[in-house]
Amino acid sequence: MTDGRLASEGGTPVRPTLLPFHRSWIDEAAIQEVAETLRSGWLTRGPRTARLEAAFREYVGAHHAVGLNSCTAGLHLALAALGIGSGDEVITTPFTFAATANVIVHLGARPVFVDVEPDTLNLDATKIASALTGKTKALLPVHFAGQPCEMDEIVGLARSHGLAVVEDAAHALEAAYRRRKIGTLGSATVFSFYATKNMTTGEGGMLTTDDEPLAEQVRTLSLHGLSQNAWRRYAEPGFHHYEVIAPGYKYNMFDIQAALGLHQLWAVEKWWEIRERYVRRYDEAFAPLTELSPLQVRSDRRSAHHLYVVLLHLEHLSVTRDRFAEALLAENIGIGIHFRSLHLHPYYRDRFGYAPDDYPVARWASDRVLSLPLYPKMTAQDVEDVIRAVLKVLRAFPKRRP
Ligand SMILES: *Cc1c(COP(=O)(O)O)cnc(C)c1O
Repeated sequence: MTDGRLASEGGTPVRPTLLPFHRSWIDEAAIQEVAETLRSGWLTRGPRTARLEAAFREYVGAHHAVGLNSCTAGLHLALAALGIGSGDEVITTPFTFAATANVIVHLGARPVFVDVEPDTLNLDATKIASALTGKTKALLPVHFAGQPCEMDEIVGLARSHGLAVVEDAAHALEAAYRRRKIGTLGSATVFSFYATKNMTTGEGGMLTTDDEPLAEQVRTLSLHGLSQNAWRRYAEPGFHHYEVIAPGYKYNMFDIQAALGLHQLWAVEKWWEIRERYVRRYDEAFAPLTELSPLQVRSDRRSAHHLYVVLLHLEHLSVTRDRFAEALLAENIGIGIHFRSLHLHPYYRDRFGYAPDDYPVARWASDRVLSLPLYPKMTAQDVEDVIRAVLKVLRAFPKRRP
Protein backbone atom coordinates (compact mmCIF):
# COMPACT_ATOMS: atom_id res chain seq x y z
CA MET A 1 0.00 0.00 0.00
CA THR A 2 2.82 2.34 0.92
CA ASP A 3 4.08 2.68 -2.65
CA GLY A 4 0.55 3.53 -3.82
CA ARG A 5 0.62 0.97 -6.58
CA LEU A 6 -2.79 -0.59 -7.16
CA ALA A 7 -3.21 -4.23 -6.13
CA SER A 8 -4.72 -4.78 -9.57
CA GLU A 9 -1.31 -3.77 -10.97
CA GLY A 10 0.85 -5.83 -8.66
CA GLY A 11 0.87 -3.53 -5.60
CA THR A 12 0.00 -4.56 -2.06
CA PRO A 13 -3.76 -4.50 -1.33
CA VAL A 14 -5.08 -2.15 1.36
CA ARG A 15 -6.26 -5.22 3.28
CA PRO A 16 -4.70 -8.68 3.35
CA THR A 17 -8.14 -10.36 3.21
CA LEU A 18 -11.43 -9.54 1.51
CA LEU A 19 -13.95 -7.36 3.33
CA PRO A 20 -17.16 -8.93 2.00
CA PHE A 21 -19.78 -6.58 0.55
CA HIS A 22 -22.22 -7.89 3.13
CA ARG A 23 -22.35 -10.27 6.06
CA SER A 24 -25.47 -10.99 8.09
CA TRP A 25 -25.43 -10.69 11.86
CA ILE A 26 -26.78 -13.94 13.28
CA ASP A 27 -26.40 -14.34 17.02
CA GLU A 28 -26.48 -17.48 19.16
CA ALA A 29 -30.03 -16.77 20.38
CA ALA A 30 -31.28 -16.84 16.78
CA ILE A 31 -29.47 -20.11 16.11
CA GLN A 32 -31.00 -21.55 19.29
CA GLU A 33 -34.48 -20.45 18.22
CA VAL A 34 -34.06 -22.07 14.80
CA ALA A 35 -32.85 -25.27 16.48
CA GLU A 36 -35.83 -25.21 18.86
CA THR A 37 -38.17 -24.76 15.92
CA LEU A 38 -36.66 -27.82 14.24
CA ARG A 39 -37.06 -29.82 17.46
CA SER A 40 -40.63 -28.60 18.03
CA GLY A 41 -41.86 -30.50 14.97
CA TRP A 42 -43.66 -27.42 13.63
CA LEU A 43 -41.71 -26.46 10.52
CA THR A 44 -44.29 -24.76 8.29
CA ARG A 45 -46.33 -21.63 8.88
CA GLY A 46 -47.33 -21.61 12.54
CA PRO A 47 -46.89 -19.90 15.90
CA ARG A 48 -43.52 -18.29 15.20
CA THR A 49 -44.72 -16.77 11.95
CA ALA A 50 -47.72 -15.35 13.82
CA ARG A 51 -45.37 -13.92 16.46
CA LEU A 52 -43.14 -12.31 13.86
CA GLU A 53 -46.17 -10.81 12.12
CA ALA A 54 -47.39 -9.34 15.41
CA ALA A 55 -43.96 -7.94 16.28
CA PHE A 56 -43.57 -6.49 12.79
CA ARG A 57 -47.03 -4.87 12.93
CA GLU A 58 -46.00 -3.20 16.13
CA TYR A 59 -42.58 -2.11 14.87
CA VAL A 60 -44.02 -0.50 11.73
CA GLY A 61 -47.29 0.67 13.27
CA ALA A 62 -49.43 -0.88 10.53
CA HIS A 63 -52.73 -2.65 11.19
CA HIS A 64 -51.83 -5.81 9.29
CA ALA A 65 -48.63 -7.68 8.47
CA VAL A 66 -48.49 -10.83 6.35
CA GLY A 67 -45.39 -13.03 6.41
CA LEU A 68 -44.28 -14.22 2.97
CA ASN A 69 -41.43 -16.16 1.41
CA SER A 70 -40.01 -13.08 -0.36
CA CYS A 71 -40.53 -9.42 -1.09
CA THR A 72 -41.06 -10.37 -4.73
CA ALA A 73 -43.98 -12.57 -3.67
CA GLY A 74 -45.44 -9.67 -1.68
CA LEU A 75 -45.23 -7.24 -4.60
CA HIS A 76 -46.86 -9.83 -6.86
CA LEU A 77 -49.65 -10.52 -4.35
CA ALA A 78 -50.31 -6.84 -3.58
CA LEU A 79 -50.83 -6.09 -7.27
CA ALA A 80 -52.87 -9.27 -7.78
CA ALA A 81 -55.08 -8.51 -4.78
CA LEU A 82 -55.64 -4.99 -6.14
CA GLY A 83 -56.99 -6.62 -9.31
CA ILE A 84 -54.18 -5.50 -11.61
CA GLY A 85 -54.01 -7.57 -14.77
CA SER A 86 -53.93 -7.66 -18.53
CA GLY A 87 -54.00 -4.25 -20.21
CA ASP A 88 -53.30 -2.30 -17.02
CA GLU A 89 -50.32 -0.03 -16.45
CA VAL A 90 -48.26 0.36 -13.30
CA ILE A 91 -45.88 3.31 -12.94
CA THR A 92 -42.52 2.52 -11.37
CA THR A 93 -38.83 3.37 -11.47
CA PRO A 94 -36.40 1.73 -13.88
CA PHE A 95 -33.62 2.20 -11.33
CA THR A 96 -34.40 -0.89 -9.28
CA PHE A 97 -33.97 -4.62 -8.97
CA ALA A 98 -35.61 -6.78 -11.63
CA ALA A 99 -38.29 -8.08 -9.23
CA THR A 100 -40.06 -4.71 -9.02
CA ALA A 101 -40.98 -4.71 -12.70
CA ASN A 102 -41.04 -8.48 -13.30
CA VAL A 103 -44.11 -8.93 -11.09
CA ILE A 104 -45.99 -6.33 -13.13
CA VAL A 105 -45.19 -8.34 -16.27
CA HIS A 106 -46.26 -11.60 -14.53
CA LEU A 107 -49.75 -10.15 -14.16
CA GLY A 108 -49.95 -9.24 -17.85
CA ALA A 109 -49.72 -5.54 -17.04
CA ARG A 110 -47.23 -3.03 -18.42
CA PRO A 111 -44.50 -1.45 -16.32
CA VAL A 112 -44.37 2.24 -17.23
CA PHE A 113 -41.07 3.71 -16.13
CA VAL A 114 -40.58 7.25 -14.87
CA ASP A 115 -37.07 8.67 -14.53
CA VAL A 116 -35.32 9.26 -11.21
CA GLU A 117 -33.97 12.30 -9.36
CA PRO A 118 -30.23 12.77 -10.00
CA ASP A 119 -29.26 13.33 -6.36
CA THR A 120 -31.34 10.59 -4.64
CA LEU A 121 -31.99 8.18 -7.54
CA ASN A 122 -35.55 7.87 -6.26
CA LEU A 123 -38.58 8.03 -8.58
CA ASP A 124 -39.01 11.67 -9.64
CA ALA A 125 -42.53 12.45 -8.39
CA THR A 126 -42.73 15.57 -10.56
CA LYS A 127 -42.57 13.37 -13.67
CA ILE A 128 -45.35 10.95 -12.74
CA ALA A 129 -48.30 13.06 -13.91
CA SER A 130 -47.15 13.07 -17.54
CA ALA A 131 -46.90 9.25 -17.52
CA LEU A 132 -50.50 8.71 -16.35
CA THR A 133 -52.96 7.25 -18.86
CA GLY A 134 -56.47 5.85 -18.66
CA LYS A 135 -54.88 2.44 -18.08
CA THR A 136 -52.78 3.42 -15.06
CA LYS A 137 -53.91 1.44 -12.01
CA ALA A 138 -51.11 1.80 -9.49
CA LEU A 139 -47.90 3.59 -8.56
CA LEU A 140 -45.01 1.42 -7.40
CA PRO A 141 -42.27 3.57 -5.82
CA VAL A 142 -39.04 1.99 -4.59
CA HIS A 143 -37.32 3.60 -1.61
CA PHE A 144 -33.87 3.40 -3.14
CA ALA A 145 -30.95 2.60 -0.81
CA GLY A 146 -33.34 3.07 2.12
CA GLN A 147 -34.38 6.69 1.55
CA PRO A 148 -38.14 7.23 1.26
CA CYS A 149 -39.50 8.66 -1.98
CA GLU A 150 -41.51 11.91 -2.01
CA MET A 151 -44.53 10.14 -0.52
CA ASP A 152 -46.87 13.12 0.05
CA GLU A 153 -46.75 13.89 -3.67
CA ILE A 154 -47.03 10.25 -4.69
CA VAL A 155 -49.95 9.45 -2.38
CA GLY A 156 -51.63 12.75 -3.28
CA LEU A 157 -51.41 12.00 -7.00
CA ALA A 158 -52.72 8.49 -6.44
CA ARG A 159 -55.69 9.81 -4.42
CA SER A 160 -56.67 12.37 -6.99
CA HIS A 161 -56.53 9.78 -9.80
CA GLY A 162 -58.02 6.81 -7.91
CA LEU A 163 -54.79 4.77 -8.04
CA ALA A 164 -53.29 2.34 -5.57
CA VAL A 165 -49.79 2.84 -4.13
CA VAL A 166 -47.70 -0.30 -3.61
CA GLU A 167 -44.30 0.45 -2.07
CA ASP A 168 -41.21 -1.63 -2.66
CA ALA A 169 -39.57 -1.18 0.74
CA ALA A 170 -36.97 -3.91 0.25
CA HIS A 171 -34.33 -1.36 1.33
CA ALA A 172 -36.46 0.68 3.71
CA LEU A 173 -37.19 -1.30 6.89
CA GLU A 174 -36.21 1.45 9.36
CA ALA A 175 -37.18 4.38 7.14
CA ALA A 176 -39.61 7.21 7.90
CA TYR A 177 -41.04 10.04 5.82
CA ARG A 178 -41.96 13.24 7.66
CA ARG A 179 -41.98 11.26 10.91
CA ARG A 180 -44.33 8.58 9.52
CA LYS A 181 -42.96 5.04 9.25
CA ILE A 182 -42.60 3.47 5.85
CA GLY A 183 -45.17 0.69 5.86
CA THR A 184 -48.04 2.94 6.93
CA LEU A 185 -48.31 5.30 3.94
CA GLY A 186 -49.36 3.46 0.76
CA SER A 187 -52.11 0.92 0.02
CA ALA A 188 -49.55 -1.83 0.75
CA THR A 189 -45.83 -1.90 1.51
CA VAL A 190 -43.52 -4.84 1.01
CA PHE A 191 -40.25 -5.51 2.87
CA SER A 192 -37.51 -8.01 2.02
CA PHE A 193 -35.68 -10.32 4.41
CA TYR A 194 -33.27 -11.58 1.75
CA ALA A 195 -29.78 -12.41 3.06
CA THR A 196 -28.27 -9.01 2.16
CA LYS A 197 -31.08 -6.85 3.53
CA ASN A 198 -31.17 -4.93 6.84
CA MET A 199 -32.78 -7.91 8.54
CA THR A 200 -32.86 -11.40 7.16
CA THR A 201 -34.69 -14.69 7.37
CA GLY A 202 -32.39 -16.12 4.66
CA GLU A 203 -35.20 -15.62 2.16
CA GLY A 204 -38.43 -13.95 3.20
CA GLY A 205 -40.62 -10.89 3.13
CA MET A 206 -43.46 -9.08 4.86
CA LEU A 207 -46.39 -7.08 3.52
CA THR A 208 -48.02 -4.38 5.66
CA THR A 209 -51.29 -2.59 5.05
CA ASP A 210 -54.06 -0.82 6.96
CA ASP A 211 -56.65 -2.23 4.55
CA GLU A 212 -58.20 -5.31 6.15
CA PRO A 213 -59.85 -6.83 3.04
CA LEU A 214 -56.57 -6.38 1.14
CA ALA A 215 -54.61 -8.07 3.93
CA GLU A 216 -57.06 -10.96 3.95
CA GLN A 217 -56.85 -11.37 0.19
CA VAL A 218 -53.05 -11.34 0.25
CA ARG A 219 -53.13 -13.97 3.00
CA THR A 220 -55.51 -16.15 1.01
CA LEU A 221 -53.53 -15.81 -2.21
CA SER A 222 -50.27 -16.58 -0.39
CA LEU A 223 -51.52 -20.06 0.52
CA HIS A 224 -53.08 -21.62 -2.60
CA GLY A 225 -56.21 -19.46 -2.42
CA LEU A 226 -57.53 -21.39 0.57
CA SER A 227 -60.29 -19.60 2.46
CA GLN A 228 -59.52 -17.91 5.75
CA ASN A 229 -61.34 -20.72 7.53
CA ALA A 230 -58.68 -23.02 6.19
CA TRP A 231 -56.06 -20.91 7.92
CA ARG A 232 -57.59 -21.89 11.23
CA ARG A 233 -56.78 -25.49 10.39
CA TYR A 234 -53.27 -24.58 11.38
CA ALA A 235 -54.25 -22.91 14.62
CA GLU A 236 -57.17 -24.89 16.01
CA PRO A 237 -57.28 -28.54 16.99
CA GLY A 238 -59.64 -30.98 15.34
CA PHE A 239 -60.59 -31.62 11.75
CA HIS A 240 -61.47 -28.74 9.40
CA HIS A 241 -62.38 -28.69 5.74
CA TYR A 242 -60.78 -26.12 3.49
CA GLU A 243 -62.23 -24.37 0.49
CA VAL A 244 -60.32 -23.03 -2.50
CA ILE A 245 -61.68 -19.60 -3.32
CA ALA A 246 -59.00 -18.42 -5.79
CA PRO A 247 -56.16 -19.99 -7.79
CA GLY A 248 -53.59 -18.78 -5.27
CA TYR A 249 -49.84 -19.10 -4.98
CA LYS A 250 -47.44 -20.79 -2.56
CA TYR A 251 -45.88 -17.71 -1.05
CA ASN A 252 -46.31 -18.06 2.72
CA MET A 253 -43.57 -17.62 5.30
CA PHE A 254 -42.72 -20.65 7.45
CA ASP A 255 -41.63 -21.01 11.07
CA ILE A 256 -37.94 -21.75 10.53
CA GLN A 257 -37.67 -18.39 8.75
CA ALA A 258 -39.73 -16.64 11.41
CA ALA A 259 -37.54 -18.03 14.21
CA LEU A 260 -34.58 -16.24 12.67
CA GLY A 261 -36.65 -13.15 11.89
CA LEU A 262 -37.80 -12.67 15.48
CA HIS A 263 -34.21 -12.25 16.66
CA GLN A 264 -33.34 -10.01 13.74
CA LEU A 265 -36.26 -7.66 14.27
CA TRP A 266 -35.30 -7.08 17.91
CA ALA A 267 -31.91 -5.83 16.78
CA VAL A 268 -32.72 -3.65 13.76
CA GLU A 269 -32.63 -0.29 15.54
CA LYS A 270 -29.32 -1.08 17.22
CA TRP A 271 -27.89 -2.12 13.83
CA TRP A 272 -29.31 1.00 12.19
CA GLU A 273 -27.38 3.18 14.66
CA ILE A 274 -24.13 1.45 13.77
CA ARG A 275 -24.78 1.93 10.04
CA GLU A 276 -25.69 5.56 10.62
CA ARG A 277 -22.34 6.09 12.38
CA TYR A 278 -20.52 4.50 9.44
CA VAL A 279 -22.48 6.60 6.96
CA ARG A 280 -21.41 9.77 8.80
CA ARG A 281 -17.79 8.68 8.67
CA TYR A 282 -17.97 7.92 4.94
CA ASP A 283 -19.71 11.26 4.30
CA GLU A 284 -17.05 13.14 6.22
CA ALA A 285 -14.20 11.39 4.42
CA PHE A 286 -15.68 11.88 0.95
CA ALA A 287 -17.02 15.43 1.38
CA PRO A 288 -13.84 17.15 0.06
CA LEU A 289 -13.69 15.03 -3.11
CA THR A 290 -14.72 16.23 -6.55
CA GLU A 291 -14.37 12.76 -8.09
CA LEU A 292 -17.35 11.23 -6.33
CA SER A 293 -20.33 12.14 -4.19
CA PRO A 294 -22.67 10.17 -1.96
CA LEU A 295 -26.44 10.29 -2.56
CA GLN A 296 -28.27 13.16 -0.88
CA VAL A 297 -30.60 12.35 1.99
CA ARG A 298 -33.43 14.89 2.39
CA SER A 299 -33.77 16.46 5.82
CA ASP A 300 -37.46 15.58 6.24
CA ARG A 301 -36.94 11.82 6.18
CA ARG A 302 -35.01 9.03 7.83
CA SER A 303 -33.08 6.72 5.54
CA ALA A 304 -32.87 3.07 6.50
CA HIS A 305 -29.22 3.32 5.32
CA HIS A 306 -29.45 0.02 3.49
CA LEU A 307 -26.80 0.88 0.89
CA TYR A 308 -24.00 3.42 0.81
CA VAL A 309 -24.09 4.46 -2.84
CA VAL A 310 -21.62 6.90 -4.35
CA LEU A 311 -21.83 8.45 -7.81
CA LEU A 312 -18.50 8.61 -9.60
CA HIS A 313 -17.97 11.87 -11.46
CA LEU A 314 -16.33 10.35 -14.51
CA GLU A 315 -15.48 13.81 -15.91
CA HIS A 316 -12.96 14.11 -13.07
CA LEU A 317 -11.46 10.66 -13.51
CA SER A 318 -9.60 8.67 -16.16
CA VAL A 319 -11.39 5.40 -15.43
CA THR A 320 -14.77 3.74 -15.96
CA ARG A 321 -16.93 2.71 -13.04
CA ASP A 322 -16.38 -0.97 -13.85
CA ARG A 323 -12.59 -0.62 -13.79
CA PHE A 324 -12.83 1.44 -10.62
CA ALA A 325 -14.91 -1.35 -9.05
CA GLU A 326 -12.40 -4.00 -10.16
CA ALA A 327 -9.53 -2.01 -8.68
CA LEU A 328 -11.38 -1.72 -5.34
CA LEU A 329 -12.05 -5.44 -5.35
CA ALA A 330 -8.35 -6.08 -5.94
CA GLU A 331 -7.70 -3.97 -2.82
CA ASN A 332 -9.90 -6.54 -1.03
CA ILE A 333 -12.97 -4.33 -0.68
CA GLY A 334 -16.26 -6.00 -1.64
CA ILE A 335 -18.50 -3.75 -3.74
CA GLY A 336 -21.96 -3.79 -5.31
CA ILE A 337 -23.64 -2.11 -8.28
CA HIS A 338 -27.19 -0.93 -7.52
CA PHE A 339 -28.44 -0.83 -10.21
CA ARG A 340 -28.18 -0.93 -13.95
CA SER A 341 -31.44 0.65 -15.08
CA LEU A 342 -34.01 -1.95 -16.18
CA HIS A 343 -34.70 -0.17 -19.47
CA LEU A 344 -31.12 -1.03 -20.54
CA HIS A 345 -31.61 -4.78 -19.93
CA PRO A 346 -32.40 -6.89 -23.01
CA TYR A 347 -35.86 -8.07 -21.94
CA TYR A 348 -37.24 -4.63 -21.07
CA ARG A 349 -35.45 -2.93 -23.95
CA ASP A 350 -36.73 -5.41 -26.56
CA ARG A 351 -40.18 -6.17 -25.20
CA PHE A 352 -41.17 -2.55 -24.52
CA GLY A 353 -38.94 -0.86 -27.09
CA TYR A 354 -37.08 1.44 -24.72
CA ALA A 355 -34.15 3.48 -26.01
CA PRO A 356 -31.25 4.23 -23.63
CA ASP A 357 -32.09 7.96 -23.54
CA ASP A 358 -35.74 7.46 -22.70
CA TYR A 359 -34.61 7.71 -19.04
CA PRO A 360 -31.51 9.90 -19.18
CA VAL A 361 -30.91 10.19 -15.44
CA ALA A 362 -31.27 6.44 -14.89
CA ARG A 363 -28.95 5.81 -17.81
CA TRP A 364 -26.39 8.31 -16.53
CA ALA A 365 -26.49 6.81 -13.02
CA SER A 366 -26.20 3.24 -14.34
CA ASP A 367 -22.61 3.96 -15.41
CA ARG A 368 -21.67 5.83 -12.23
CA VAL A 369 -23.10 4.13 -9.13
CA LEU A 370 -20.98 2.12 -6.79
CA SER A 371 -22.10 0.68 -3.45
CA LEU A 372 -19.57 0.40 -0.63
CA PRO A 373 -19.83 -2.07 2.28
CA LEU A 374 -22.28 -0.92 4.98
CA TYR A 375 -23.39 -3.36 7.66
CA PRO A 376 -23.14 -3.63 11.44
CA LYS A 377 -20.85 -6.67 11.33
CA MET A 378 -18.07 -4.47 9.91
CA THR A 379 -15.81 -2.72 12.37
CA ALA A 380 -14.86 0.96 12.44
CA GLN A 381 -11.44 -0.19 11.17
CA ASP A 382 -13.11 -1.88 8.19
CA VAL A 383 -14.75 1.46 7.37
CA GLU A 384 -11.32 3.14 7.46
CA ASP A 385 -9.97 0.44 5.12
CA VAL A 386 -12.76 1.16 2.63
CA ILE A 387 -11.99 4.88 2.76
CA ARG A 388 -8.25 4.30 2.30
CA ALA A 389 -8.90 1.99 -0.64
CA VAL A 390 -11.29 4.45 -2.33
CA LEU A 391 -8.78 7.29 -1.95
CA LYS A 392 -5.96 5.08 -3.25
CA VAL A 393 -7.90 4.07 -6.36
CA LEU A 394 -9.02 7.67 -6.98
CA ARG A 395 -5.42 8.87 -6.87
CA ALA A 396 -4.40 6.19 -9.37
CA PHE A 397 -6.82 7.52 -12.01
CA PRO A 398 -6.42 11.29 -12.08
CA LYS A 399 -8.20 13.22 -14.77
CA ARG A 400 -6.12 13.51 -17.92
CA ARG A 401 -4.99 17.04 -18.68
CA PRO A 402 -6.26 18.21 -22.06
C1 LIG B 1 -33.97 -7.37 -2.80
C2 LIG B 1 -34.96 -6.56 -3.56
C3 LIG B 1 -36.21 -7.09 -3.95
C4 LIG B 1 -36.53 -8.54 -3.85
O1 LIG B 1 -36.55 -9.03 -2.57
P1 LIG B 1 -36.72 -10.62 -2.36
O2 LIG B 1 -37.09 -10.72 -0.91
O3 LIG B 1 -35.42 -11.25 -2.68
O4 LIG B 1 -37.81 -11.07 -3.24
C5 LIG B 1 -37.13 -6.25 -4.53
N1 LIG B 1 -36.85 -4.97 -4.76
C6 LIG B 1 -35.66 -4.42 -4.43
C7 LIG B 1 -35.44 -2.97 -4.70
C8 LIG B 1 -34.67 -5.21 -3.85
O5 LIG B 1 -33.48 -4.68 -3.56
